[in-house]
Amino acid sequence: MPLFSKKDKYIRINPNRAIRETPQAKPEVPDELFSKCPGCKHTIYQKDLGSERICPNCGYTFRITAFERLSLIADENSFDELFTGIETTDPLRFPHYKEKLAQMREKTGLDEAVLTGTALIKGRKIALGIMDSNFIMASMGTVVGEKITRLFEYATEQKLPVVLFTASGGARMQEGIMSLMQMAKTSAAVQRHSKAGLFYLIVLTDPTTGGVTASFAMEGDIILAEAQALVGFAGRRVIESTVREKLPDDFQKAEFLLEHGFVDAIVKRGELRDTIAILLSFHGGGL
Ligand SMILES: [Zn+2]
Repeated sequence: MPLFSKKDKYIRINPNRAIRETPQAKPEVPDELFSKCPGCKHTIYQKDLGSERICPNCGYTFRITAFERLSLIADENSFDELFTGIETTDPLRFPHYKEKLAQMREKTGLDEAVLTGTALIKGRKIALGIMDSNFIMASMGTVVGEKITRLFEYATEQKLPVVLFTASGGARMQEGIMSLMQMAKTSAAVQRHSKAGLFYLIVLTDPTTGGVTASFAMEGDIILAEAQALVGFAGRRVIESTVREKLPDDFQKAEFLLEHGFVDAIVKRGELRDTIAILLSFHGGGL
């Protein structure tokens, strides 16, 4: 032990904290009462967001669950869920992965990070997929890849258009390289659907990144996006340190992608249902 060590012999006084050593009880505000808007940083009263969950101050579209999305988009009671109960083989035997999946299922009511099935939009039948970022950041593992693939195969067989709402944090790290293989697998299914002359419509929602962007999220005949959605492959810091350049502030935002031709239109959440129905009628889908 050092001869002149002061360790643990004196009380340390931090002038900033000296006045209040013990934290006082704070007034309790339920978490779900207010939300901080990621767009304008204002604190918004939850009720002011309405069922569409849009910031009344800046128009930012808050992330919503797959079931909330379904109720905004599909005709009432028209959804038939397909391709449930597919289990991952947990190829890496990743510690606590199966427990995590069980927790996520309990929390979200989904069996995986994408909800798949058929539905009607203003009377037109479609194959519908909705990814939910609340489920392990909607990362794409083998089950997500399988569900998307089966959705396209089913749509090809039934001659249905596909409408897909994307959201993803990237590949499912817990499944390693098997996750990356889903990019090729889903893309092949998209191509077969396309070759059959069928219509595929994407709606990019916040955030759509990684392997999902590098595969089926960018392969639609028409690509719509929600305002201010983050869409990209690698993260900003990774790109900046690779190209050694400062990127524009709005880089990887839906508006930037629209300006540069990667997105066909940014559509307000409240107008999506009508817009999709019109596009389906133009392209002869879902009759
Ligand atoms: Zn806002």
